[in-house]
Amino acid sequence: MTHRLSLGLLAAALTAALSGCAGAPPAAQKPSEASIAAHVAAATRAAGGDLGEVLTLCKPVPAARPVQDEAADRGLRALIARPAPPPGRAFDNLYFVGGDWASAWAIDTPEGIILIDALNNQVEATALIEGGMRKLGLDPARIRYIVVSHGHGDHYGGAPYLAQKYGARVVMSDIDWTMMETRLEFATPIWGAPPKRDISVKDGNKLTLGGTRLTLYVTPGHTWGTLSPVFDVTWQGQKHRVLLWGGTGFNFGADIPRMEAYGRSTQRMAQVVRAEGIDVMLSNHSRMDGSQGKLARLREAGSGPNPFVIGEPTVERTLTVMNECSLAQRDRFALLP
Ligand SMILES: [Zn+2]
Repeated sequence: MTHRLSLGLLAAALTAALSGCAGAPPAAQKPSEASIAAHVAAATRAAGGDLGEVLTLCKPVPAARPVQDEAADRGLRALIARPAPPPGRAFDNLYFVGGDWASAWAIDTPEGIILIDALNNQVEATALIEGGMRKLGLDPARIRYIVVSHGHGDHYGGAPYLAQKYGARVVMSDIDWTMMETRLEFATPIWGAPPKRDISVKDGNKLTLGGTRLTLYVTPGHTWGTLSPVFDVTWQGQKHRVLLWGGTGFNFGADIPRMEAYGRSTQRMAQVVRAEGIDVMLSNHSRMDGSQGKLARLREAGSGPNPFVIGEPTVERTLTVMNECSLAQRDRFALLP
């Protein structure tokens, strides 16, 4: 009896799980205050006690795209002016050389360095990327590639300077190169000029240097051509796999197709995370991945467990929070008059 009952429960659970896998939410609810609350509740459950910063994505965002006016420039200057954290080593072959607001990551290989993102402008590239690398014993002249996650100036602003100085190649998605060439989503003189089109990649293209291979996924949402690289790192000789999410914020206004693309990107990457056992998730804004605190803990501990290794289930939960918040936000936009 008990046995038969538990089998019945198992069957019910399996059916629920399978219908949950079918893609669309079980009951494709019409957007309503209730559907918004349900998505926020699901995000909150997934966030648990450790992903509170990611959960801030669920806060309602303005329906109008932010304009780059004087007030926005003042805000941007204030963000850039915040004292930068010290540069640091996150893994045997991965280094943080970012500011307090935007991050830049350097992957070291025997044949040179792949830099992911180039901060706001030449001043930051000089002080934080070149200066940070030297403090860490890395020679910036070894930068071979600069992968720019997306076409917003807080990530590309320092790229032209570094590319020109060191002959590094700049890698972006074809979609965001085109966006930068035709109509910048945001523009301000605080940022360095956009780089000129160089290496243009499509979803799934690989970039290989010195035995390190990056798979460059196009994860539309934050921009239509946001690149999220996946690559291996080691810590004390042990291999880990990283997803570096290339663009997080919902700062594009009430654009429902784009919000839905964001949600699909998180679902798709959750499948990649499961298939490849990705156990590290990084961001290009340290508030999202807590990298400053994690680097500080590593500095103090010197060795031992690496706080950047959060485990595959937590990487998946992070993507669930992002997905549910994008759905909540989409429903809010759908309810707009
Ligand atoms: Zn951006």
